[in-house]
Amino acid sequence: MEEELIEKYKKCGKIASEAREFSRTLIKEGAKTLDIANAIEEKMMSLGATGFAFPTNLSINSVAAHSTPRINDDTVLKKGDILKVDLGCHVDGILSDTAYTVEVGGHDNKDLVDASHEALKAALDIVKPGVIVSKIGAVIEDAIKQKGFKPIANLSGHEIGEYELHAGITIPNFDNKSSVALEEGMVVAIEPFATNGFGKVIDTKESEIFRLTGEERPTRQASARKIMQFAAESYQFLPFCRRWIAKKVGGFGIEIGMMELLRNGMLHQYPVLKEEKNGMVSQHEHTVIVLDKPIVTTL
Ligand code: MN
Ligand code: MN
Repeated sequence: MEEELIEKYKKCGKIASEAREFSRTLIKEGAKTLDIANAIEEKMMSLGATGFAFPTNLSINSVAAHSTPRINDDTVLKKGDILKVDLGCHVDGILSDTAYTVEVGGHDNKDLVDASHEALKAALDIVKPGVIVSKIGAVIEDAIKQKGFKPIANLSGHEIGEYELHAGITIPNFDNKSSVALEEGMVVAIEPFATNGFGKVIDTKESEIFRLTGEERPTRQASARKIMQFAAESYQFLPFCRRWIAKKVGGFGIEIGMMELLRNGMLHQYPVLKEEKNGMVSQHEHTVIVLDKPIVTTL
């Protein structure tokens, strides 16, 4: 990989990592998730991000992923909540993606929180060109099971492309027998999830995160056109949320416009994902450039 590109990945990773560390100071009993998400996103912009890789995910307890505060969301953190903070930004389309888990106001679930952290460290230890992804999955599975928990089998890490968060290969969180290998110069996000539940997530009926599909169909609905245009300009094919659209399209227009775009196949939605048996879930994630000496950009 060219030095200039590596530098961009490092810059973008550092912004995400600084915002992640900053976010730890915001997490306390009684804090509003909406305020936390907004503050994290403002921080990334102030540190020089061009934009976001995706809306900041704040997923609580058995909610595993794809949860971002709604417009006027009044959710507050409670003592004992297991909070996953998943954030990322881009610099000219070069992306970073990182996550951690914290128990609000206590350490009753320290082992669960540690399980995904240990798994991530173990996975990063073996990353290099030529490593088979199911071997990484096996290492993750082992580390999580050693702590007495299960990996979430239907959530996985992923390759990252320019302006493309989930590109190419996936990195499983268990030994899925895949023979796909990491290649020199690939950029991947590794993200183990651990649970005391069943080890699988299911879709809920809620969706706050969306992305354009690239389908272009004529629509006469004004809000739909406005959202489409704004999202295309601001986010390309990266995920976005209602909170961000609300700055541009007011009131009922958002719901009407989004419905129209979904109906037309112009919008993809990411349902909020919940553990199947309502188990508690922890997650940790880093972005890494696969080289003989791998570079974890979000350390
Ligand atoms: Mn992530
Ligand atoms: Mn990711």
